[in-house]
Amino acid sequence: MSWFRRDISDREKLPRPENGERKVKTEGLWQKCAGCRQIVWKKEWDDNWNVCPRCGVHARIDAVTRIKLLLDGGAYRQFDAGLRSSDPLGFVDSKPYSQRLDASREATNLCDALVSAEGDLDGRPIQICSMENKFIGGSMGSVVGEMITRSIERAIERRTPVVIVSASGGARMQEGAISLMQMAKISAALMRLDEACLPYISVLTDPTTGGVTASYAMLGDLNIAEPGALIGFAGPRVIEQTIRQKLPEGFQRSEFLLKHGMLDAVVPRLEMKAYISRALKFFVG
Ligand SMILES: [Zn+2]
Repeated sequence: MSWFRRDISDREKLPRPENGERKVKTEGLWQKCAGCRQIVWKKEWDDNWNVCPRCGVHARIDAVTRIKLLLDGGAYRQFDAGLRSSDPLGFVDSKPYSQRLDASREATNLCDALVSAEGDLDGRPIQICSMENKFIGGSMGSVVGEMITRSIERAIERRTPVVIVSASGGARMQEGAISLMQMAKISAALMRLDEACLPYISVLTDPTTGGVTASYAMLGDLNIAEPGALIGFAGPRVIEQTIRQKLPEGFQRSEFLLKHGMLDAVVPRLEMKAYISRALKFFVG
C-alpha cells in the first residue's frame, strides 16, 4: 500500500501530538485493542460483537446492541421510552443536571441510562433491561429505577423471566437520596418476583459498580459476568487508602470474583445467549 510506504522525509512532516505518538487518520476504519494492542479492522470488531478477534478482550457494547445480541432475530418491543427525570433537586455541579440529561439524550438517543424491552430468547418470552454506560456513566436514577421496577412487575403479570444487564457507575449523585431509594424499590420488586417463582438472571458487564452492585446486580438467581469486567462497590483507590494495603492482582475483575465466590459464572459474550437459555430451561423447564 503506497500510503504505508511513504519515505521518511514525508513521514517527518506528519503532525505529532505532544506525547510523541504519530497521529494517523484512520477515519474510524480501525480500532486498537486495549488487550493485545493490535490494530483491528472496525468491521471485524462489529462482526464479532466488539470482542477482539485476536485476543478475546471484551470491549463495551451499547444497550440496544446488547438486546439485539440476546433476543431472537434481534426483535424486541420497547417500554417506557418516554420516561424523563424531573431533576427533583434542581441539581447543579460543574453544570446543571438538566443540561447533562439533554446532552446524554442527544448523544445516545435514549431517554435515560436503560433500555427496557420484551422479546424472545430461544423462543421463550422474557423481560430484559439493558443499561447504557454512555448515559451519565450508566448511573441509576429515578427513571432507571422505575423502568426496572415496571419491567419486573410486567414479568410477574405475564409470567416471564427477567434478565437485567448491568453496565453502571452506580447511583446517580445528581438525584441524591432519590437515586439511593431505587435500590430498595427494585430489591422489593425482585422479592415479589421470587415469591411468584419466576427467575431473574443478572448479567454483569464492564463496569458494574456502586449502588447497582449493592442492589439488583447481585440479587440474581444467577449472577453471571462477562470476562474481564470491572465489578465492585467502591473503587480500588478508595479501598487501598482505607485498609492501607496493596490490592491483589486482578482485584475486582470477573475472574477474581468468581474465584472468591461472588459470581456464579464468567461467560463469554458470544456464548451468553446459549448460557441464559440453558439456565432458564433449568429454572422453569
Ligand atoms: Zn485484542
